[in-house]
Amino acid sequence: MNRRLFLSTSLSLLSINSYSKSIKYDPYSTKLLLGMGDLSLYSNNIPLAIDPGKAFEKMQTQAKKEGIILEIVSGYRSYVRQKSIWNRKYKFNKAAGLSPKKNISKIIEYSTIPGTSRHHWGTDVDIIDGSKPKEGDVLVTEKFHGKGPYSELRIWMKRHAEKYGFYLPYTQNTNRKGFYYEPWHYSYAPLSIPLLKTFTQLDLNKLLITDGLEGGTHLTPEFMSFYLEENILGVSDSLKKI
Ligand SMILES: [Zn+2]
Repeated sequence: MNRRLFLSTSLSLLSINSYSKSIKYDPYSTKLLLGMGDLSLYSNNIPLAIDPGKAFEKMQTQAKKEGIILEIVSGYRSYVRQKSIWNRKYKFNKAAGLSPKKNISKIIEYSTIPGTSRHHWGTDVDIIDGSKPKEGDVLVTEKFHGKGPYSELRIWMKRHAEKYGFYLPYTQNTNRKGFYYEPWHYSYAPLSIPLLKTFTQLDLNKLLITDGLEGGTHLTPEFMSFYLEENILGVSDSLKKI
């Protein structure tokens, strides 16, 4: 190859490489943190970001050997999806006569304001035991305790999940504020801990889109700072340390 041609070919390859690097997945981008990015998922069956997906698959394989089928009910969720959940709940509570303030308090017992869900990050999953019958709502605390169908799964996860990087954000700890206890929700700590740190540095008052969001006018800066302290930071200590 002619030296000049060789040089120009290697240079253009170099620039293609640095270009693809610059558009590479950045989990810390504001868009992705708010559920508005284009997150590439590990697989159809494991809708999580790549690293959490790999770790989940390993855990799932081990659990299966011990008779527990880790089935994902919900993994990655976009802003749009979270908004439809929020609006549906808001309209339902409104029809039942709740004031906007009470309505929002009721929704945030278990659900997040769109843009603030840990499910946006591709690090968090809601799981059940797929070998057990599914009747009605599955993500119900009682079903994970006592004689409930997902009790064995909870006990297995308590013993093994942390080895794979998965922790409960919404524990039973009564000192914890914010969202209620969710025995089905696990978070992949190696990625979600630094993401939480980055997320808490965002100016949510500027970034949150409340157009078309039911009750959006009640999400004042005062309310948002309360929500950040109590709800966003109201996770288990094991998911806050860096
Ligand atoms: Zn969840």
